[in-house]
Amino acid sequence: MITAAKKFHLTFTALSISKEIQLQMPVWNHLAMTDANLERIRKKKNTSCLRQNHRVKTVLDILQIAHRTSTNYRRPHILNPSGVGRKNCGCPPCQRDRNEFHCRNPGECIETAKLILQCIPPKWNPEVENLDHCDTLALTEEEQLANKGVGDDKTLTFDPDYRLTDMSHGFRIFASDDYLQQTAAKRYGSLLTNGDELEAQIHARVSKPGQANSEMTALIHLRQPNQVDQTLALRLSFTEWDLYPSFNTALLGGLLHIISSTPLNTPLKVFTTSDFLGKTFVKNRCDIEKHPLEPNFRLVQTVISRLNERTARTRFTQSKVTDAFLLQHLPPHTILLDAASDLMFSLPGIRLKAGNQRLFTKVIMDIKGKLRPPRKSTTCNLERIRCSLGDEFKFYPSDSAIWRSMRCTDINRLTRNFLWKCVHETFHVGLFWDKVNNFEHFGECSLCRVPETMEHILLDCNSPSVHTIWQLAEFIWSQRYRDWPSLNWGLLLGCSLSKFKSNRGKAIRGKNRFFTIIVSSSMQLIWTLRNERVLERKPTTTTEARNRWLAVINAALTRDRILANKARFGKFSRNKRLVLETWSGVLHNEEALPEDWICAKEVLVGIRPAARNNGVG
Ligand SMILES: [Zn+2]
Ligand SMILES: [Zn+2]
Ligand SMILES: [Zn+2]
Repeated sequence: MITAAKKFHLTFTALSISKEIQLQMPVWNHLAMTDANLERIRKKKNTSCLRQNHRVKTVLDILQIAHRTSTNYRRPHILNPSGVGRKNCGCPPCQRDRNEFHCRNPGECIETAKLILQCIPPKWNPEVENLDHCDTLALTEEEQLANKGVGDDKTLTFDPDYRLTDMSHGFRIFASDDYLQQTAAKRYGSLLTNGDELEAQIHARVSKPGQANSEMTALIHLRQPNQVDQTLALRLSFTEWDLYPSFNTALLGGLLHIISSTPLNTPLKVFTTSDFLGKTFVKNRCDIEKHPLEPNFRLVQTVISRLNERTARTRFTQSKVTDAFLLQHLPPHTILLDAASDLMFSLPGIRLKAGNQRLFTKVIMDIKGKLRPPRKSTTCNLERIRCSLGDEFKFYPSDSAIWRSMRCTDINRLTRNFLWKCVHETFHVGLFWDKVNNFEHFGECSLCRVPETMEHILLDCNSPSVHTIWQLAEFIWSQRYRDWPSLNWGLLLGCSLSKFKSNRGKAIRGKNRFFTIIVSSSMQLIWTLRNERVLERKPTTTTEARNRWLAVINAALTRDRILANKARFGKFSRNKRLVLETWSGVLHNEEALPEDWICAKEVLVGIRPAARNNGVG
């Protein structure tokens, strides 16, 4: 267990420690004391007396001995000229030490206790004033009630008291980042409030969400009594990381900018249309640490560290009436936000108590994943998907959007796996066989005599089945739509991200879904037929290819119809209208089918299977 704790950087730390915890700490193995100091204490001859006779365990016990004063008594504790404490002090505590605890020299023990106190670092030392101003800034009772949602005031106030009051909250894991262990977080801002409360409205805007060229803009309106109003439109980018652009990230960025440009002792009231900021920083503040893999996690931590630094109130409120329209037309200027958090106010890793085994496993997998170098083929394929979709649909998805599309449930599970493997190029084709003795010939396409790649197999191969299948796909598309795109490798891999739009620029859901289904099913069928040809030596005729393709597409249609059954699948059922939109116009004998053909019998696509000896028509 200790090995695991060391491996995953378990530590005990906090921004500042409350007096109670400082006094509760065990003194003989104090975790903040350096090894040199511990050794120094161990060497003192009175240490064993304090330990065994005085039964000292915690810092409080040591403090009581070190601060023993006897000003009320006749003989004060004084040291004789040789620097050794008095043996024969007559004050009642010293008398008790001698008689009850069998201490030989209480004076020396007091001296040792004083030395031990000096060895405790300032952050943990009850004798040192922390200057965190937490007592002065602590929330009033009304504010605490308002934060809990009691009363009419819906304004939430950030709690500036960051002292550690519960021992179990001090244990942190994955604490490999830099942080200050020895110094308590000290607020430098003045406690006197500077001017009136600054009211800030933040509106967020995200253009092209989910795309690689997405932009975040924060629109800010600052209002302060006796000052001129300020309006800002900021196009956000961050110094530290590439953040996934989202509405919430833009709000956080706007808030970070306001905090950084406002004096620490000016009270601040933030207005937003969403309740995200209030929930994150006040209501559910403890829950942040339960989601360390959220894309915004570090940004939220940074904002919290900046809020902790402030010496004036920061309040959040959700307001419906906005003056966003005033800001809509402002020309945005790009701003590079410094998202690095102050070491003094930041805590490393996550709270041990906030996690469970499931979360820790996820974090460990994430850390391991980051250490692994990216696969060259994967990076290349992601870029190709982005380029093809950009050329075809003017749509540039981000990496995460591409990975999410691979999990799209419009495609069946096996095909989803197949697509995922294609992007990672995990199949044993082409160059793979160069490394296998006596099997080098497997790396070459037996029909075209060129090095084999997945792209060649699925698109360019001279095998009759490849031609037949793509012809059929184009044919069935042409029954309803005209614009069959010219296929390329990137478009095949990104088929579930197609963005066919109407003349008005609105995405046509049925059309996109239809494209996804026929392209992905065709791809997998070509791969299956190729494997039969190469591995089982069973070449496919065009007739067979045609009939097998029809079977696959009809199976997809039937699966859609079955899954659209709401009575059977409840909330997991497919949207019936979407299924109708997807397949209408390409069905066999569609005029004879009822309007809602989901439950009708014999619903098939409008291409007939070829008779065995007929060849393809
Ligand atoms: Zn005494
Ligand atoms: Zn003693
Ligand atoms: Zn070939």
